[in-house]
Formats: sequence, structure tokens, C-alpha cells
Amino acid sequence: MTSLSGLPAQPIQFHPPVSSLRWGVRAIGGRFNRARWASVGLTQALFFGLCWLSWNGRPLLSFDFAHQRVHLLGAIYGPQDLLLLAGLLMAGALALFLASALSGRVFCGFVCPQSVYTGVFLGVEQWVMGTPGQRRQRARSGQHLQSAARQALTWGLWGGMSLALGWTFTAYFSSGPDLARRTLAGAMGPVELGACLGYALFAFLQAGLLREKVCQHMCPYARFQGVMGNEHTQVVSYDQRRGEPRANVLRAPLSRLAGPAGQAAPAAPAAPAAQALPAAGACVDCGLCVQVCPAGIDIRQGAQYECISCGLCIDACDRVMLSARQPTGLIRFANSLGTGWRDTLAQARVRGHALALLLALLGVGWTVAQRVPLQLEVLRDRAVLSRPNRDGSVDNVYRLHLQNYDVRAHAFTVQLREAGPLQLLPTAPIDVPASGERSVAVTVRLPAAAAAEAQGASTPVLPLQLAVVAEQAPALQRQQATRFLLPR
Ligand code: SF4
Ligand code: SF4
Repeated sequence: MTSLSGLPAQPIQFHPPVSSLRWGVRAIGGRFNRARWASVGLTQALFFGLCWLSWNGRPLLSFDFAHQRVHLLGAIYGPQDLLLLAGLLMAGALALFLASALSGRVFCGFVCPQSVYTGVFLGVEQWVMGTPGQRRQRARSGQHLQSAARQALTWGLWGGMSLALGWTFTAYFSSGPDLARRTLAGAMGPVELGACLGYALFAFLQAGLLREKVCQHMCPYARFQGVMGNEHTQVVSYDQRRGEPRANVLRAPLSRLAGPAGQAAPAAPAAPAAQALPAAGACVDCGLCVQVCPAGIDIRQGAQYECISCGLCIDACDRVMLSARQPTGLIRFANSLGTGWRDTLAQARVRGHALALLLALLGVGWTVAQRVPLQLEVLRDRAVLSRPNRDGSVDNVYRLHLQNYDVRAHAFTVQLREAGPLQLLPTAPIDVPASGERSVAVTVRLPAAAAAEAQGASTPVLPLQLAVVAEQAPALQRQQATRFLLPR
């Protein structure tokens, strides 16, 4: 695969040859930066907010491993719903494939928690430590004590943020209000404490210290996402035909361009110089696209697997181009064929991924609609397989185990189905609380006349179905096949 510029794609490099990360990443304003922060706001609002919300008196989202229950949007799911989880995971994977076929690692740049947390941690670092230029200046002027104090403050804030992340993560295994109560009372269990501190340490290492190295060397998706795109995929690309030969004569005046994120760039000082160098390309070699890159790469070298498609280099370069009174888009989302989004969307693989995603979502929706929140397990009494009575009838005893995954309590009636001459001895309705379970023994009888007829049968077994039906909601029912054993 080649880049838009015609340069061949770069082989995997474990140490990017150009990196601006020693002094941190420079902040830049622009549409992609705004989109990134909107994604950060949305994902973090969901993460920090959902564990506090409830639905019909139950957590909106909670993973109750102790009772093998997942609470989601007012419904209760158990181990029997693993198929649903598989469907959701498949839909998520297909959405990732679709995004990769459309636009490379765009998921990494805007949604992946690693990018989101790294962005937040970098923002805090820049707020405390200053811009890369200020940090470099401080180092040159020997203000090491001040740098160390700022570094300690940064780490302290990162630690606090990591603990908040770890605590919130742990709250999803009970609920926010419940965990808050127990935290304030000093009654967090050892498992909860371990989960909280473990996740906090994980976040600190991943987002604070390792940052882009996670995306480059640890994430498996980074390794295989390249095969999901092709020459039609729109990836962040540098237009070499327009940009080269780059001319750094404008570096001095343009060094003023990278003001604080979101500020308007100064008026264009570059146009006269550009006219004086008619052979020069549009790139003024200011290096701003490299300084803002969270992956520490130079996109002008062609497509690189480290690029997470965050678009910050586009924001940076557009700002430079506007200041130089040049058309924007020297760096932009483009494919190596130079064709537009219509061509990308028309790809068979894009349509195939979209269709498969739609089918997976429909499958999940259908499974949810058809789901019966009740489990029934029928176990034979192993102590007495078959019990002959004095009147000639024969009894078999079964243990019914009911698990009610509904949010309401129910009384269940036991029924015998497809059982021929077999009869169910009177059994009281079984009361099962919401999200609870209960076991009861029931007896099935073969009357004396039928038992006498069955004597000497080649197969001393009769098939039957045992069913339980909710009295107030007949649609809530389950049945299970089992066997009635005759005495030998
Ligand atoms: S090259 Fe551009 S799009 Fe890619 S990671 Fe760096 S800043 Fe983001
Ligand atoms: S930001 Fe644009 S003009 Fe500046 S070095 Fe990068 S590509 Fe060239």
C-alpha cells in the first residue's frame, strides 16, 4: 500500500525516527481536537455516571459476579445469556472492522479508552508542566528543582485521577451508592480494594507513563488493523505532490502560530516569502504536525501503523496553511487513489461489514425480544430411582431448580406435559423472588393399571415433560424433558 503522496508505506518501526514526545505533546485547537474532547466528555460522563443510576430500584448497569447476574437497563441476565454477550461482542468487532475499512485506526484516535485517558493525562501534564517549549526552556536554564516539583504535582494529580478511575470501575460490581456507603464506612472488601487499586495502577501506567507505547507495541489491534484497509481506505495522509519540496525559510515567522489551543492564529506573514520561492512546495517545514502528534511520528514520511488517525496533525497543518494564505488540506483524510468517500463507501468489504453488523444487531435484538427470564433445571432423585407403592402404582421423584431472572417475584405452577398415563401429585405453587432461585421436589405417579401394563416392556422408561408457568404471566414459562423409570 502506498500513501497519497506516492511514498511506499513504511515498515514497522519500533522506535519512530522522529519524535516530539521528549518534551511532551503540544496542544492544538481545531475541529479534530474538538471532536476528540467531545468524545472524552461523552465517554467519561457515561463511565463516571452510569454506576450511580438505577432503574426500578436496581442498578442500571452492574456486574454481580457473586450471584452470577448482570443488571442492564432494568433487565437481569445470567449465564444462560452468554449467547447474547457473544452477539454483542461480534457486533462490536464488526463495527471495528467497518471503521477500519473506512478510515483506518479512527476508533483508536477518538473512542479507545487508552487514547481517551492518555489525552486527559496529557492535558493535566501540560497544565502543570507547561508547553513543550516552556519545559525545554526550564531545562536549559537549570530550573531543575522547579521541574521536579511540577513533575511531582503532575504525578500526584495522575494518582488521584487513577484512583477515581479505579474506584468507579469497582463500583460496577455492586453500585455507586452502595460502594460509596461502604467506602465511607471503611467496609470495602479485600477483593474490591484489590480491584480498585489494581485498576488505578493499570490506568497510571497505561495512560501516564506508557501512553503511545501501548498503542504501538502492546495493542493487538494495531498489528492486524492494517489488513482491514486497502487503497480505498481514507487515512490521514500528507499530500507530498503539493507539499514538496518543503521550505523551512518560513519557520521563524510561523513559530508564532502555535498559540494555546483554540486561539486564532496570527495573520499571515508567510505569503510574500512563499512568492519569493516559486519552486517551494506548500509545506513550510514548521514541524507543528510532528509536535502535536500523540504518537510522536512524522506523517510526512508516509502511512505508518503508529498513526491513530486522531487528526491533530490536520488541525495543526490547516492552521499553518490558513496563516500562509494557502488552501487547507495539505494533510487530510485521503486514500492512495485520490478518490473520495463515495468510492470508499462503495467497496465490497465496507458493504459486507455493514451488512454483517446489521445482521448481528438484528440477531441481538431478536434474542432480547424472545428471551424468557426464567431457567428450569430438572434433576432426578438419585437416591430412589423408582418407588413402587402398595397399590401397584409407581412413583418417581424429581427436583426442580428455578432461577427467576425477572425483576418481579412470581408464583409458578408445575405442569406435566406429553406424559401419557403419568400423573403429577398435587404440588403447591412455587414462590420465587425477583432475581432469586428455589428448589422443590415433585412426585410423578404411574397409576397401578398403567404400571401393570408396562411391566415387561422392552424399555422400562417413559418420556415426559415437566413445565413451570408463572401464574400471573403465562408467557413466563419453561419446560424440560426427562424420563420416568419403571422398576426392573
Ligand atoms: S500522524 Fe496525525 S493523525 Fe496520526 S497519530 Fe499523529 S497526529 Fe494523529
Ligand atoms: S504542519 Fe504542515 S506545513 Fe508544518 S511541517 Fe507539517 S505539513 Fe509542513
